[in-house]
Amino acid sequence: MKGTGVLTVISGFSGAGKGTVMKELVQNYPYFLSISATTRKPRTGEVDGREYFFHTREEFEQMIEKQELIEWAEYVGNYYGTPKRAVEQQLAEGKDVILEIEMQGGLLVKEQFPDALLIFLTPPSVGELRKRLYGRGTETKEEIQKRLDHAEEEASYMKHYDYIVVNDVLDDAVKQIHTIISNEHSKVPYLKEWIASITEDLACMKEGKE
Ligand code: ADP
Ligand code: 5GP
Repeated sequence: MKGTGVLTVISGFSGAGKGTVMKELVQNYPYFLSISATTRKPRTGEVDGREYFFHTREEFEQMIEKQELIEWAEYVGNYYGTPKRAVEQQLAEGKDVILEIEMQGGLLVKEQFPDALLIFLTPPSVGELRKRLYGRGTETKEEIQKRLDHAEEEASYMKHYDYIVVNDVLDDAVKQIHTIISNEHSKVPYLKEWIASITEDLACMKEGKE
């Protein structure tokens, strides 16, 4: 039963483990993970065109002007946005697409793609969130504090999401997300073509053509 691709948004507090979970997910299953554009500086080990497309503020503002982004938001002083073309292409080809973006962007995606699936990833506790952010060691203490301060406001978006997934044991979180997306394919909006096809076959059978 082949339908169109499912568009999934995954959001969560900084340090929840989104990047880690996404890496495992695309290594194990055939998802297309959208690569965002950002004005944030690359972290050690990050490669332009792999984790993000890194841009200047001027370049990013041009992309906004040319309407090349599905959505964009400012997060702790930097722009982040989803390039439109690749996502639309992959969905049209029937591929499942994942956007790992923050919540304001997630809600903008839902406005444009009402069938989009919204998943909120959270660590098991606030203590674990702090531990993971400090443990990652990629931001200064001040930057970490900004991200933690922002998390309370971010929690208010949970109620707009379809699922909350707790990232405690990594493999379990990855499997749970894969199951949720797989089940989405059984929803009627994704099966319009299949419904049309079986309806046509039934009509043919009734007329004695088959
Ligand atoms: P995010 O992309 O949400 O900001 P990361 O994927 O960078 O978060 O993860 C933050 C830190 O937490 C990293 O050091 C990562 O190795 C660690 N981490 C991620 N998932 C888990 C998990 N299930 N258990 C323990 N540590 C985790
Ligand atoms: P980081 O700097 O930790 O990579 O990402 C900071 C935040 O920006 C995360 O919450 C991440 O999900 C979000 N983000 C990454 N790409 C995009 C995007 O294209 N659009 C939006 N709205 N948020 C994004």
